[in-house]
Amino acid sequence: MNRINVMKPWFGQEEADALAGVIESGWVAQGPRVAEFEQRFAEAMQAKHAVATSNCTTALHLALVVAGIGPGHDVVVPSFSFVATANAPTYVGARPVFADVDPLTGNVTATTLLAALTPETRAVIVVDQGGVPVDLAPIREALDPWGIIVIEDAACGAGSTYRGRPVGAGAQLTAWSFHPRKLLTTGEGGMLTTSDPDWADRARRLREHSMSVSANLRHASVLAPPEEYTEVGFNYRMTDMQAAVGLVQLGRLPEIVERRREIVAAYTAALSGITGLRLLGDPAWGTSNFQSFWIEVLPDFPLGREGLLAHLAKDEISARRGIMASHRQPAYANRDTGLAPLPVTEQLTDHTIILPVFHQLTDAELDRVVDSIRGAAGLPARGAAMPVTGASE
Ligand SMILES: *Cc1c(COP(=O)(O)O)cnc(C)c1O
Repeated sequence: MNRINVMKPWFGQEEADALAGVIESGWVAQGPRVAEFEQRFAEAMQAKHAVATSNCTTALHLALVVAGIGPGHDVVVPSFSFVATANAPTYVGARPVFADVDPLTGNVTATTLLAALTPETRAVIVVDQGGVPVDLAPIREALDPWGIIVIEDAACGAGSTYRGRPVGAGAQLTAWSFHPRKLLTTGEGGMLTTSDPDWADRARRLREHSMSVSANLRHASVLAPPEEYTEVGFNYRMTDMQAAVGLVQLGRLPEIVERRREIVAAYTAALSGITGLRLLGDPAWGTSNFQSFWIEVLPDFPLGREGLLAHLAKDEISARRGIMASHRQPAYANRDTGLAPLPVTEQLTDHTIILPVFHQLTDAELDRVVDSIRGAAGLPARGAAMPVTGASE
């Protein structure tokens, strides 16, 4: 029996050809492909400016720097997220303050953010958790009057929509990830998008040591103008090798989203009748790319979450525990991270599992996952014939 992984990236020959083209060109670091990827990505996400970075974590770091966040400031973030969301404020010397999330979406809301707000709050980072679009408009409505900057961590969100537009389009700054666990991958990679030209310019400089002359311009000139380093910057560049792959992957994104949504629709049809399971779905305000499709294991399911995971593992199915709770990690457990209670975060992190969803998942593999879950629930496999009673030879 082959193992079914929770996620697999999807590549074709086009990515390999694009990569070979970059290597043949001799220009492998940040250059023309990165510029083209930025432009195409900005168009696809309906963003004014896009700045490619080495990953989403560095994009979040740059977002906070250009927004002027630093020591003495609080940044409200969900604990229910990959730890990078909380780490970014820590990098700039600010304090991450944890907010709880809504049980249906796993996302922060205006209500949970307001419950965590402190007098020192200068920014919030909202997350499209697992690709589920965050309900941004009420959040902007609640926080804009206070001058609190709304940054969107759309690491998982490429291909998800909010009110008919790509997620991220409504935040002041949005960070994206191209890690292989997301839909569109460049191996490692990230992007920062914004409608503010000054923030975009500064982020563009900061990602290459805050050099006054871009690497692009230096390579294009025989005699480059002398450069200056205008502030302490970083090396957060993407390479042209990554961008070339990203350009191909961006073209595949609609197809990837469509297939993931098909898979989740099939899971939903098959699992929604099973007592003791609650399935993630689209919220009223948008569509998810289902970067993660999680189900909650309720008390009336015959096995607990760990029991269900072990049952799936016995059938060579690699499901995963749900999204982590950052406030419980040793890195944050003993820090002062605010006072809002986080009961929904703890419930979801303890009782959810993420099911395998990836482009190449076959119908037969999907049936195997469904039948394994049915087995855990004490139900017969779907394909199994009804027991024949009273049959004679
Ligand atoms: C994956 C992820 C990140 C980190 O992305 P990298 O590109 O690996 O730095 C940040 N936030 C969330 C919500 C994520 O899922």
